Amino acid sequence: MKIHEYQGKELFRQAGVPVLEGQMVTTPDEAAAAYDKLGGKIAVVKAQIHAGGRGKGNVIDNPDQKGVVLVKSADEAKAAAAGLLGNKLVTIQTGPEGQTVNRVFVEAGCDIARELYLGIVLDRAASRPVLMASTEGGVEIETVAEETPELIFKEHFDPAVGLDAYQVRKLCKKLKIEGAAAKAAHKFMTAICRFFVDFDCSLAEINPLVITGDGEMIALDAKVTFDENALFRHKDLLELRDLSEEEESEVRAANAGLSYVKLEGNIACLVNGAGLAMSTMDIIKYHGGQPANFLDVGGGANAQQVTEAFRILLSDPNCKGVLVNIFGGIARCTTIASALIEAGKEVGFSVPLVVRLEGTEVEEGRKLLEESDIDVITATDLTDAAKKIVAAVA
Ligand code: ADP
Ligand code: MG
Repeated sequence: MKIHEYQGKELFRQAGVPVLEGQMVTTPDEAAAAYDKLGGKIAVVKAQIHAGGRGKGNVIDNPDQKGVVLVKSADEAKAAAAGLLGNKLVTIQTGPEGQTVNRVFVEAGCDIARELYLGIVLDRAASRPVLMASTEGGVEIETVAEETPELIFKEHFDPAVGLDAYQVRKLCKKLKIEGAAAKAAHKFMTAICRFFVDFDCSLAEINPLVITGDGEMIALDAKVTFDENALFRHKDLLELRDLSEEEESEVRAANAGLSYVKLEGNIACLVNGAGLAMSTMDIIKYHGGQPANFLDVGGGANAQQVTEAFRILLSDPNCKGVLVNIFGGIARCTTIASALIEAGKEVGFSVPLVVRLEGTEVEEGRKLLEESDIDVITATDLTDAAKKIVAAVA
């Protein structure tokens, strides 16, 4: 689960990670008031969307309206907010269609001496979180990783112990942080590592992490993602969820208890079991097709869930065909076949449908499909199914 920058910064503040004063607002007038409240000096108006690259991104059809704007008066703050709110911001992470800005963050301006990068992720290979830091802050870290990976410094740490003082000293040396800033780095880095562990994050990224003229270390940006599997023990975090930022079909699927991830291809897949869903996607690709989604209806899927799954699959404008690949173990083939027929009646299959059924009550399931009005291309096994659906959408 992703959250907004202003929400991440509020959590940082509580965790002892230094951030600047700021206020989230939803109208231009509130932005002007927030500017005055900050003391009327330099401030920054920042679009709040779940995507980075806002500083370089701009509003659709308005190249002058950037996603991060430096302002020097209440009127400028108001104008910046008016230019962003309700409009679509396009950044390298949003795709060309952009993302609507519903909230802006008015934050105190910062006296930036240096811009660094800091990020924490879980390194699955090492079974530990890893802190990554770089002198190359403020720019695309992906580019740094590709072109000058030697400028990214890594320290793994034990989640139970946190980042050790000697590790901070090592990093400071490599990042050329000295004096007051080195002391600030110790407080900052240990606090952010503890935050990452305490909140079960899958990502905590601060780009840029700045050192001010006074040697303070401040998080100027905050990108935080929580591990959804651990959210049950952080119930208070759930209210930070902003569904308007999430893929609508994925939210619908989650509400129906389905595991669904939207992808770029045109062959929709309905499968039971995550492993079978993965191999179905693989075999579609192997035969030259592109899956439109990952969808696991689960072992014990009922008719309502399967019908909702078809509604979601067929509402994707990219969908040019559907491949149903079911192994009836707990979910019987008859249940799936009935749901298929039900969904066919309700939403109508305007695209080719290939079905491969196997397992419990398979004969009865096939019979139900044959006797129904829906046009089904039946397949005998996985390869046959993949070839048939790829041919059908070609
Ligand atoms: P994004 O990563 O989405 O582009 P950032 O929060 O990193 O957004 O902001 C982009 C740039 O704007 C930063 O690299 C920094 O140079 C500048 N910036 C952001 N917040 C402030 C601030 N409070 N004061 C001064 N400059 C800022
Ligand atoms: Mg940034």
